[in-house]
Amino acid sequence: MTIALSQFDEVRLDRVSRDFGALNALRDVSLTIRRREFIALLGPSGCGKSTTLNCIAGLLPVTGGAIWLDKSRVDTLRPEERGFGMVFQNYALFPHLNVRQNIGFGLKMRGKPKAEIDRKVDEALNLVRLRGQENKLPGQLSGGQQQRVAIARAIVIEPPLVLMDEPLSNLDAKLRLEMRAEIRRIHNELGATTIYVTHDQDEALSLADRIVVLRDGVVRQVGTPKELYDAPAHLDVADFMGFRN
Ligand code: ADP
Ligand code: MG
Repeated sequence: MTIALSQFDEVRLDRVSRDFGALNALRDVSLTIRRREFIALLGPSGCGKSTTLNCIAGLLPVTGGAIWLDKSRVDTLRPEERGFGMVFQNYALFPHLNVRQNIGFGLKMRGKPKAEIDRKVDEALNLVRLRGQENKLPGQLSGGQQQRVAIARAIVIEPPLVLMDEPLSNLDAKLRLEMRAEIRRIHNELGATTIYVTHDQDEALSLADRIVVLRDGVVRQVGTPKELYDAPAHLDVADFMGFRN
């Protein structure tokens, strides 16, 4: 494969905190993510999922703790120095650039030669199954196709980590199921390491290797879907997961 993601053994959050004034949006979040895992960050609205993701990406400075990629400390680096791939709920595509240009934008910014950009964009187009759409503008695509472009753009820079923040919440129910399967397929085919934010229990249970349950800025529990089901650490985890009637 032309797209070869940067390899590492683990990403480690060590007692990461983030305050907004008097509000402790994250408190001592510690977490280790291993290479090739698909991790879901799950919890109700306002629990700190996006804050966690943005701290990992570097879009938001941490106010305490540290983030490590193997033995390198990354929380002090700018977002582009970390080089993680981001996929947002609203796709965040450039409306005036076509599909090919949107996907290749990051590589162009990094000064890559045209032949290399073309080769990698071609492979990304194949991977997200958008062959034949490359000359269209985002406005000419369906929501699902736009999200495919956003995913291609995130992975074409060959990031060690792919970060997704509620990527399916703007899609209708049918497309959401289709894209859910696509996201897991792409993760597997690439051998990616993915952190996926969602408030949807079903999504987390069906997609993730491990689920991190967040509540009020605190990690309540980390486990495989089966571990959470068999032994929820708190009644509110069981309630939130829908494991109690
Ligand atoms: P989630 O993504 O789980 O819905 P967020 O991480 O967006 O939650 O927010 C966590 C908490 O931090 C919420 O109480 C939210 O209101 C607050 N918050 C998030 N971003 C900001 C900000 N830029 N300024 C002030 N408060 C914020
Ligand atoms: Mg959010």
